[in-house]
Amino acid sequence: MIHVEHLTKRFGAFTALDDVSLAVPDGRLVALLGPSGSGKTTLLRILAGLDHPDAGSVHLDGLDATAVKTRDRRVGFVFQHYALFRHMSVAENVAFGLNVRKGPGKPAKAEIARRVGTLLDLVQLGGLAGRYPSQLSGGQRQRVALARALAVEPRLLLLDEPFGALDAQVRKDLRRWLRQLHDEMGLTSVFVTHDQEEALELADEVVVMSKGRIEQIGSPAEIYDNPATPFVFQFLGNANRLEASIAGGVARVGHWRVAAPGIPDGPGVAFIRPHEIDVDLADPVAAIRHQVVLGPVVRLDLALADGTAVEAAIDRETHARLALRPGQPVGLTARRIRIFAENEV
Ligand code: ADP
Ligand code: MG
Repeated sequence: MIHVEHLTKRFGAFTALDDVSLAVPDGRLVALLGPSGSGKTTLLRILAGLDHPDAGSVHLDGLDATAVKTRDRRVGFVFQHYALFRHMSVAENVAFGLNVRKGPGKPAKAEIARRVGTLLDLVQLGGLAGRYPSQLSGGQRQRVALARALAVEPRLLLLDEPFGALDAQVRKDLRRWLRQLHDEMGLTSVFVTHDQEEALELADEVVVMSKGRIEQIGSPAEIYDNPATPFVFQFLGNANRLEASIAGGVARVGHWRVAAPGIPDGPGVAFIRPHEIDVDLADPVAAIRHQVVLGPVVRLDLALADGTAVEAAIDRETHARLALRPGQPVGLTARRIRIFAENEV
């Protein structure tokens, strides 16, 4: 179990982490999700003991982690850029953390060889033990990096955008495979990514970060369905952002009226996901400006009567049935509209 409490980290006058608190129970895979510069790597480095906070605490299994040296924390670390030792074979890379041990904690040579063999089988590189990093693909190198991190039997596995430099298909495959490995080995893992799809697919729990602060913590479904802040709504997928005006608990958004209980009278902001807009031919309120086929859906770039741009995504069948074409006037039904007060934005 990791307990992070009220962590603050400054670089000069700049606050990279601002009062961050977080708990990661054993066996969990937690994703730190946020744009570049939001403090994800800084948090991970402090968890690893590679950096020290200005305030706050980290406890690993109840022990104050700042009192434990990085080497003794039993933390495995995988970085975005493989960071393998170029002059060492795959097997030597994986054995590294065991070979550098000293004293009674160091396993015998035969035991190290046995463990390396098991790990290479686990990451499906059994046949490549004698190769050098330059003779591997990017995906294979990251699997070696992972085997190296696992060799020391970490109680905590930290991964910093480990698949960020790989192409889309390899990234997807490795993501599923990592999830399986995490479950089979009973690991506790913290995975950093700026890719919302990766976080939603991989993690038990997602921690959304912005500007050194935690915006929301929740399961993938919770943060997608109930974003706590406008930032989370926009970061977790495409969103139309429209002006709203609120009076007596009702928001007016274009031609729509939406219940906005508890939101004070005045200007507000409405968010609508493109795939939560239905298009029809009755009561036109918008015109199609442009349409693009994206695999199973068609994206429509629409203009409301006052010129406001709105994006809708509908399935190919509906698009064909309605015989939609650019210039056509259409009716719009929003299945879900989320209203925030202006001062929340
Ligand atoms: P992320 O991993 O989310 O992209 P980082 O944790 O790497 O973000 O960085 C957060 C912010 O802290 C960035 O604005 C970055 O420039 C700054 N920062 C990180 N490390 C240092 C450092 N060693 N010195 C100065 N500024 C740093
Ligand atoms: Mg980073």
